[in-house]
Amino acid sequence: MRDNLAKCGSEGLSGEAAAAFPVAVRDLTKVYGAVTAVDRISFVIEPGTTVALLGGNGAGKTTTISMLLGLVVPTAGEVRVFGADVSRDRYQVAHRMNFQSPYVDMPMRLTVRQNLTVYAGLYGIANVTERVAYIAGDLQITALLDRRTGKLSAGQKTRVGLAKALLNAPELLLLDEPTASLDPDTADWIRQKLQAYGRERGATILLASHNMAEVERLAHRVIVLEAGRIVEDGPPKQLLKAYGRQTLEEVFLQIARRNDMGRHAAAIAAVETGTEPPP
Ligand code: ATP
Repeated sequence: MRDNLAKCGSEGLSGEAAAAFPVAVRDLTKVYGAVTAVDRISFVIEPGTTVALLGGNGAGKTTTISMLLGLVVPTAGEVRVFGADVSRDRYQVAHRMNFQSPYVDMPMRLTVRQNLTVYAGLYGIANVTERVAYIAGDLQITALLDRRTGKLSAGQKTRVGLAKALLNAPELLLLDEPTASLDPDTADWIRQKLQAYGRERGATILLASHNMAEVERLAHRVIVLEAGRIVEDGPPKQLLKAYGRQTLEEVFLQIARRNDMGRHAAAIAAVETGTEPPP
């Protein structure tokens, strides 16, 4: 994983070479009281690639994405987007990136059109009316434009969130469970859209997902987090080979269960020896 960082050259993340990478983080850490949500993670993401961030519930995926967006301030470490330190200079690169997350709600009393119009204004988009109409058509939400955002179904909100994320045609797209709440047909259609977006625009996509079929379809590379740490990092095929498995689902289960077994064994040992069990 350190080798990956070496691509930024001897000047490190603050040097010119780092600006070529949509994402570069070094020893990135976030501590919430007694919980270390993200624990000294380091990696760079190559332009035009799609990277999946995997991990069980509470592994640190959302916290990592939030730090990349400049929404959560790191406790320690460096976080760069196109070379800019987003914890300080987020606005330098805000127009080049966008995100979608089921955890970030748009103002519920506004209509979808009003919301998309406000966001288009914030991103400094010219021809706002035309752009909103185009994106709505592209994501097949034109019929929802004059509905109140708060009255939409979960799946409809997800699609509106993706429309918002694509408004400024971002070079870097951060997605937190992009097909959550979508029916299988719509989820499949959205995956096709994202795949085409990455290919046609040469966009870089970082997505957190629990859906392994989605990851197999979209990701060039997979980063697996466990308790805030990176435990695997590589192309899906490499992971399948390393674990001798046919699907990423099987690899994911093997990693999760290996660690569960480890914790279980440590807890038994702690009881037997009268020491504190690990957290
Ligand atoms: P999930 O798959 O369940 O969405 P995740 O991998 O996205 O999980 P995070 O949401 O990043 O995980 O959470 C990582 C850890 O940090 C969890 O233990 C969580 O409880 C904790 N955490 C996240 N945000 C906060 C916060 N604002 N205050 C305190 N603890 C937090």
